[in-house]
Amino acid sequence: MVLSHADVLDSELKPIDSALGQTLAEHVLSPINIPPMANTAMDGYAVRWADVVGASLKSPRSLKVSGLLVAGGRPDKSVLPGASIRIMTGAPIPPGADTIIPFEDTDEESRKVKGKQIKEISILKVFAKGACVRPAGEDISAGQKVLSKGTVLSAADIGVLASVGKSTVRVVRRPSVAIISTGDELVEPGTKLGVSQIYNSNSYTLATLVLTCGAIPRILPVARDTVEDLTRKMASGLDADFFITSAGVSTGEYDLVKDVLTREGSMDFWRVRMRPGRPLAFGFLRRQDNSLVPHLGLPGNTVATMVTFDQFARPAIYKMMAKSLAKRPTVAAVLQEPLMNRDGRRCFVRAILEKKEGRLFARVAGSQGSNILTSMVLANGLLVVREDQLRVEAGEEVEAQVLEGHEYLLQ
Ligand code: AMP
Ligand code: MG
Repeated sequence: MVLSHADVLDSELKPIDSALGQTLAEHVLSPINIPPMANTAMDGYAVRWADVVGASLKSPRSLKVSGLLVAGGRPDKSVLPGASIRIMTGAPIPPGADTIIPFEDTDEESRKVKGKQIKEISILKVFAKGACVRPAGEDISAGQKVLSKGTVLSAADIGVLASVGKSTVRVVRRPSVAIISTGDELVEPGTKLGVSQIYNSNSYTLATLVLTCGAIPRILPVARDTVEDLTRKMASGLDADFFITSAGVSTGEYDLVKDVLTREGSMDFWRVRMRPGRPLAFGFLRRQDNSLVPHLGLPGNTVATMVTFDQFARPAIYKMMAKSLAKRPTVAAVLQEPLMNRDGRRCFVRAILEKKEGRLFARVAGSQGSNILTSMVLANGLLVVREDQLRVEAGEEVEAQVLEGHEYLLQ
């Protein structure tokens, strides 16, 4: 349901250096050859192959040195028969020359005199005609499609865009995600804790998770547990593409997110059969112009917040960005201790996955209370115990979702 209400966003023209992780909204064709002109792959001497063919240590070929050509230099002097031009990596191949002889295949070292130009050079070794010449268009030819629509831009992709001369690129817009933590007990980190107060951590884990998805988090001020304050604070974020609140979605009297969601839009579902994270609400908030913003009301317990974000919000954000990886990569791991599933929910168990002799083993990462955030620090995976599994024994295999940054476990 969440996915079916998340639409791919419109595109925007973006400077290439801020488009990492965004999806290309159009094919990219190169307007030019890369390299644009034939150039040398080595520092050496530009020569005519016919002059040096057969050169060896025993039978060196002597050539006049008629000039110097550096990268960025103009190839306005030809290499005449019996002559050569000293040339640096990246410099254009001068007219007349067809082959490059690297310094180390000449006697240059023994001829060097400080402050003096070398007038003549002996070629001691030669490979094929055209050696060390990078032809024009060797990598990319003009008109070639270099990147396809739908590509999620990586460092190499952005490098290719730059190398074909593009400073901007048309990509699917990053969603802006409004984040509101709710609760009378919350104060901001960096301030002093009063009686019965706790620090608001969910806004920050959520904002970071949103960033990890490639979207733009917008942390809004904490809302207090009144309909008025919730309504007012939520109204200030309605221009976002996606709305996330934390807490206030359980069955308590002060859990008012559902009420506000129902009043200010619609609530499509509430509660899911999972642990942690049962009290999850999903629906829409209505903007002034009657358009709708998808809203996930995540549970407030810190780990429930993270796990439900990962299972429900991340796929939706990915879809809005036209990125395909909606599911966490999974591996099979051998349980090292039994797992109980008391009440028929799908459990996401924080776990430490470890490779031993080519097999992956899993043990539980500390206390599994939905408020024990440090076990999320320890975990590199989430074991998925299905709702119909009452118990999984030690030695049995379970499915594990690999958490962000621990993809090495997939090898
Ligand atoms: P609630 O759903 O409002 O009953 O909250 C569930 C639990 O999560 C309570 O113990 C809250 O104190 C805690 N909690 C709610 N919001 C946050 C937050 N932003 N940061 C850390 N803990 C929170
Ligand atoms: Mg609360």
